[in-house]
Amino acid sequence: RTVYVNGDYVPESEARISVFDRGFLFADAIYEVAAVLDGKLVDFPAHLRRLHRSAGELGMRVDISDDALLDIHRTLVERNGIEQGQVYMQLTRGAADRDFAFDTDAMTPGLVLFTLKKELIDTPVARNGLKVVTIEDLRWGRCDIKTTQLLYPSLAKMQAKASGADDAWLVRDGHIMEGTSNNAFIVTSEGAIITRPLSNGILHGITRATLMEYAATTGVRIEERAFTVAEAHQAAEAFVTSASMFVGPVVSIDGINLSDGKPGPVATQLRQHYIAESRKRLL
Ligand code: PMP
Repeated sequence: RTVYVNGDYVPESEARISVFDRGFLFADAIYEVAAVLDGKLVDFPAHLRRLHRSAGELGMRVDISDDALLDIHRTLVERNGIEQGQVYMQLTRGAADRDFAFDTDAMTPGLVLFTLKKELIDTPVARNGLKVVTIEDLRWGRCDIKTTQLLYPSLAKMQAKASGADDAWLVRDGHIMEGTSNNAFIVTSEGAIITRPLSNGILHGITRATLMEYAATTGVRIEERAFTVAEAHQAAEAFVTSASMFVGPVVSIDGINLSDGKPGPVATQLRQHYIAESRKRLL
């Protein structure tokens, strides 16, 4: 694969970053993952807007133009022959002698991008759904910033897998926050969808926002409010959203099957709708 590192396109085996990069030493880094369908980018402008927001919240510099970032994405997609998959982009504050204090202006931000080839449409998750378990949310208080500080969600996912599930839903004060790497929704028996409102406690998912926009146009009722673990257990359906899964039906929570334990009609329809509409807006 060809990857992009600080201005250069190089084979992955030749890519080099500094051991003093604060992304590596402090997780002082932000990232975005954009899906690729039909060799083009899904929801790209929204990902750029969120990158700028994350950078702004952390006082990190973005020294490169949006056009240049789009160009790098497209170049990697083309060079690596990605028809379906994703592009990962990571921006770090830069490299400096290891110190908790930093001087952003004295550093050059680090920028790394790479691609992954991956089937996104006809997946086992789409066919069979996901089993999730609820786990206490022990992450920091600024989960709205898309940082590379991903150890806790990674451990939570491993704990879920060890218990025979596929993923974890993180819980604070008895309420579902979000998945380890996706936003969480439940569906009522009337077909309304419920998802937690945006706050500093969850990532402002791009797929979440776009899906809610599409759902509203199809007349699906949306309730943006916190919901409890007990409500989730009793839901008719549930699903998660993310750039790498689009809409992933959830078929069981903490070992309790939702309805018949198969992907539900609302989640399945929203998934198809999301994919069809996204295909009309590729960049
Ligand atoms: N929540 C968390 C914690 C995430 O890591 C992600 C994906 N990175 C999401 C939600 C989904 O966001 P998006 O739809 O923008 O991929």
